[in-house]
Amino acid sequence: MAELFYDNDADLSIIQGRKVAVLGYGSQGHAHALSLRDSGVDVRVGLHEGSKSKVKAEEQGLRVVTPAEAAAEADVIMILVPDPIQAKVYEDSVKDHLKDGDALFFGHGFNIRFGFIKPPAGVDVCMVAPKGPGHLVRRQYEEGRGVPCIAAVEQDASGNAFKLALSYAKAIGGTRAGVIKTTFTEETETDLFGEQAVLCGGASALVKAGFETLVEAGYQPEIAYFECLHELKLIVDLMYEGGLEKMRWSVSETAEWGDYVTGPRIVTDATKAEMKKVLGEIQDGTFAANWMKEYEAGLPKYNEYKKADQDHLLETTGKKLRKLMSWVEADA
Ligand code: NDP
Ligand code: MG
Ligand code: MG
Repeated sequence: MAELFYDNDADLSIIQGRKVAVLGYGSQGHAHALSLRDSGVDVRVGLHEGSKSKVKAEEQGLRVVTPAEAAAEADVIMILVPDPIQAKVYEDSVKDHLKDGDALFFGHGFNIRFGFIKPPAGVDVCMVAPKGPGHLVRRQYEEGRGVPCIAAVEQDASGNAFKLALSYAKAIGGTRAGVIKTTFTEETETDLFGEQAVLCGGASALVKAGFETLVEAGYQPEIAYFECLHELKLIVDLMYEGGLEKMRWSVSETAEWGDYVTGPRIVTDATKAEMKKVLGEIQDGTFAANWMKEYEAGLPKYNEYKKADQDHLLETTGKKLRKLMSWVEADA
């Protein structure tokens, strides 16, 4: 079983005794910086020239400097810029300001796990990753609660790196909910696998294939949209609240029977064999290398895939139908 840590296991004064730089002020960055500050931590935000989030950070009372200035001032540097540019930000703005005894923090292990960032030996390398989007992390903190976090140490130069990570997690509310100990390798590989095979890749491919099957059989796209995409939220909400059991308790017996007999015909042994291949390509670095190559080439295939799905009948149908649903937030 996983090791869990709560408020009583974490000493807030450790992080209160450090100078923290949060690089980036997006989903995670804003939540970390504001909650660290409200927990009595000395924090500055590092943002690049022309950053769109700079005004917001300043309005919210934070001091904003360049990433290099932030790294120079601080002895704990949390990198919360997008993963594909972290290595460049590290090279340009962080590396030269790292001293023995400093700590480098991440919200996701990608760049450490695949060696795009190689910190010097005298520095602690830690991860504190909330298991939720930044806005929830911040809202929970403000309400006196927290979002569970996972924490890891890749390099323990000080001998106290995990205590420091727990202290950081406490300052953003994580230990109120519970912190699970992991490793950079486990976090990175499971995160990539989950988003590719199940959450984003798997779910969207399943929805599209179901929708196409109905439309190709002559059913109306609007009806197919409701059955294959819209209602998925109800099912996922039930799973989220009470696992497969609550979902099956809530749906009809007919739906439950269909679940048992048809589910395994859709996600077959062949699908699982492919999942294992996908996991292999994550573990051996193939996925990471290909993704960084695509990113550096200016995202040609990424944009092609994006465009193709934007024009898909599923999406154009959904756009029209969501206008009929006053409770659904308008498309961004
Ligand atoms: P976002 O895309 O929301 O935010 C990125 C921030 O970085 C923005 O404020 C952006 O500024 C800023 N930025 C861009 N380039 C630079 C630069 N060169 N120097 C300094 N700042 C820069 O990122 P996320 O919060 O989603 O992700 C941050 C990290 O957290 C990632 O490692 C991610 O994997 C991890 N994570 C994310 C979760 C999430 O829910 N989103 C959950 C758990 C972990 P601007 O836009 O103003 O130009
Ligand atoms: Mg991810
Ligand atoms: Mg139905």
